[in-house]
Amino acid sequence: MTKRVINFYAGPAALPLPALERAQAELLNFENTGMSVMEISHRAKEYDAVHEEAIALVKELLDVPPNFKVLLLQGGGNLQFAMLPMNILHSGRKADYIITGQWAEKAYKEAKIVAGEAARVIASTKEEGFRRLPRPEEIHVNPDAAYVHICSNNTIYGTQWKTFPDTGGIPLAADMSSDFMWRPFDVRPFGLIYAGAQKNLGPSGLVVALIREDFLEMCSEALPSMLQYKIHAKNNSLFNTPPCFSIYILRNVLAYNKSIGGLKVIEANNRKKGELLYGCIDRHPEFYRGYVSVKEDRSFMNVDFNLPSEELDAAFVAEAKKNGMVGLKGYRALGGIRVSMYNAVTVQQVETLVAFMEDFAARHA
Ligand SMILES: *Cc1c(COP(=O)(O)O)cnc(C)c1O
Repeated sequence: MTKRVINFYAGPAALPLPALERAQAELLNFENTGMSVMEISHRAKEYDAVHEEAIALVKELLDVPPNFKVLLLQGGGNLQFAMLPMNILHSGRKADYIITGQWAEKAYKEAKIVAGEAARVIASTKEEGFRRLPRPEEIHVNPDAAYVHICSNNTIYGTQWKTFPDTGGIPLAADMSSDFMWRPFDVRPFGLIYAGAQKNLGPSGLVVALIREDFLEMCSEALPSMLQYKIHAKNNSLFNTPPCFSIYILRNVLAYNKSIGGLKVIEANNRKKGELLYGCIDRHPEFYRGYVSVKEDRSFMNVDFNLPSEELDAAFVAEAKKNGMVGLKGYRALGGIRVSMYNAVTVQQVETLVAFMEDFAARHA
């Protein structure tokens, strides 16, 4: 058997083993074509079936209502930071941004480049080092906002919206790159949802987006074609050659998610993983010092903590690696440890990590 490690990288990140094994088995002769899926025309029926299945699985797993379009785009989460304001903030429209971390701030900065003062910050927890989310009473949505942008999960700081802010009917626009499909949720309040695939869905570069029809109607037609949501929607994300292999892997991941019982089962697994890891942190609050200050805001995807010294941080990472666990070094600016446990990380793998953490604490505390 191929040697595999337990992968806690923040992104690109672990993919479900069965999705990779399926790719391996199908690589050289896809659907009896005598070719790999990378070598087939994107207009051929064999590829088309993959493309349609990936889109249908997004709709099915999330119970997406018919007034939404699923788009498969390129350019990663970062291009969406620009595409959203380019498409919506024309004709004098304005938008509100909630700043809960570095990615949310990047989205705002791109909107400023595109639309200047029309992009407004309405809440931020930057002064507290992004250790918590804004409370509802700290958020004042402007009634003239065309959308309110949030980042659903803060990959770097480890906070996650469990209940999305109430915008009084103004469409939410959300970067869900690091927690899309971690659980079932109601997509209807969102005008746009986008997610770079490399955390919960598949390979980097690919973006899965959901756009509501009324939001799509507001989109600009005065942009280069590749930047228009309308062009991608009209062409079923086949305006140009799509990233076929990445979409194929996405299909494999979603088909696997469905096979294990869909997002309810995935949510139960993610909650179990959170209980295990936060349980350990809370048993040793002096040794594993969690970064997030408000328990309800803690992320089920990314967990940041510091040990009592940088030497212990480094020893933790090195010993974990010796025990087959990688990707635990904290984000550059925060130091310490970051555990990323996206959908593909199993309950058993988190149990292994927690057993290691208990042992490490017993030896070093
Ligand atoms: C990883 C990440 C991104 C980055 O997207 P790219 O695909 O690298 O452009 C954006 N937003 C969030 C929340 C992320 O975690």
